[in-house]
Amino acid sequence: MPEIKTDNVQIALVTGASRGIGKAIARALAGTGRFVYLNFNSNLEKADAVLEDIISSGGNGALLQFDVSNREESEKAIKKIIKEQGKIDILVNNAGIRDDMLMVWMKKENWQSVLDTNLTGFFNVTRLTVKNMLSKRFGRIINISSTSGQTGQAGQVNYSASKAGLIGATKALAREIAKRNITVNAVAPGFIETEMIDGLPVKEIAKTIPAGRLGKPSEVAAAVLFLCSKDAGYITGQVIGINGGVL
Ligand code: NAP
Repeated sequence: MPEIKTDNVQIALVTGASRGIGKAIARALAGTGRFVYLNFNSNLEKADAVLEDIISSGGNGALLQFDVSNREESEKAIKKIIKEQGKIDILVNNAGIRDDMLMVWMKKENWQSVLDTNLTGFFNVTRLTVKNMLSKRFGRIINISSTSGQTGQAGQVNYSASKAGLIGATKALAREIAKRNITVNAVAPGFIETEMIDGLPVKEIAKTIPAGRLGKPSEVAAAVLFLCSKDAGYITGQVIGINGGVL
């Protein structure tokens, strides 16, 4: 990967960019001229296809494999970006997993793995990024939460807890760093057509959504793109629902 001089170009990191919502966000950011680091956990083939697609559309970026639940790996990756580019302007904490079951059947590992990825992953990736943003006096952080974290969802005590935690972290961090021109917001998607909802009764779910359909990854990406814009500079500590009207 040749080192690219990106002095006037915004540098973005999207975690979980190999598939689904993260892929759509990475494409949207690259499509608007940002240099995008595409993080993934294990799916190199899919991540590579996203990067190929971005480059063939005239955009630019690089792959960056690490496990967000692993603090050492995450901090090493952030240091690598800062070494290569000097800054991170945009961070989208999107990587996430679910492991649904009723609380009575839930084992400690089902709880821990979801919290480690969805919530501690935010801490692992964001801490050093914020340090860099503070020194540059600019930043946009967007955390991908969920309707499940706003209302609670039966069968998702672990997932709802992680996504509600992310909302609390978003609001607290926004207050800490607002004066330095850094905004921190969350988006809370409802049901979005990605691999994450494979196996769910989609037709039945659609009947419960006022819009009568599931959302598309590009519809989440559009909101993230706006939150990254200059015009969104006075929006911080907010949670934007993208859910077809369920909430
Ligand atoms: P998805 O299709 O399952 O994709 C998940 C992405 O996260 C993949 O790129 C995956 O990488 C990455 N990932 C998972 N664990 C990781 C880890 N430990 N370290 C680094 N990357 C990791 O999911 P999605 O539906 O696009 O969801 C994206 C985000 O939106 C998640 O936070 C999810 O909770 C949230 N969300 C989704 C929905 C929905 O209906 N789809 C609704 C509300 C919120 P690999 O490909 O390498 O495994």
